[in-house]
Amino acid sequence: MSPHRVPIVAIDGPAGAGKSTVARQLARRLGFTMVDTGAIYRTLALAARRANIDWDDDEGLRRLLDDGFSLQFVAPPPDAPSEAQRVLLRGHDVTEAIRTPEISRGASVVSARAVVRERLLELQRSLGRGAATGAVLEGRDIGTVVFPDAEVKFFLTAGDEARARRRHSELTEKGIEIPLAEVLADQQRRDRADSERALSPLKAAEDALLVDTTGMELDAVIERCVQLARGRLN
Ligand code: C5P
Repeated sequence: MSPHRVPIVAIDGPAGAGKSTVARQLARRLGFTMVDTGAIYRTLALAARRANIDWDDDEGLRRLLDDGFSLQFVAPPPDAPSEAQRVLLRGHDVTEAIRTPEISRGASVVSARAVVRERLLELQRSLGRGAATGAVLEGRDIGTVVFPDAEVKFFLTAGDEARARRRHSELTEKGIEIPLAEVLADQQRRDRADSERALSPLKAAEDALLVDTTGMELDAVIERCVQLARGRLN
């Protein structure tokens, strides 16, 4: 029997390749639930910071995960400026608080700890399997570890500069002013850490569809992914 009952679309790739936008639109077009797994690691990094637990303190992280790391994804209110889901930590909205460069670094550190990956694996699987009609999960290891038997797997990439420019304009839109060179350096550090770690490193699954989004409008990427996904799902 298949370990999941509804179809799963996995989207992996490095930061800034367009995964979130593509995953959100793909989920909307397919009528599936979207699960942003990076938001889970980010929320854990934020919870650790608020509880004064170091990001590499395995005992502290274990306690945090076992005693009340309660995370929920909820639909945005109808008048919200963005279609993005809201993220709640113990009932409090942390959607914006988890998007700072500091928490990006924290997410990269906590996500390399075995205790964290083990405990968050089940959560991600149940969010996928529990979806009503199907789920689009985006992250780094969805097609390789979380759902190795996903019906559709994408690996989105883009050149370093193109990705840093996307991240830079996203941050600027949010009023976070950081020089492009700094965004690029931060991204390269994070890519290196994500790709070189021993546990669930960032890499394309052998059966993933590779999509290089350098120089492509994300609308065009979305159209291409919708077509490819529909082809595989039918
Ligand atoms: O995708 P996002 O940039 O929000 O992810 C934040 C960090 O969480 C990544 O840099 C990575 O270290 C970690 N992550 C992960 N596995 C996933 C999703 C995110 O290790 N499936």
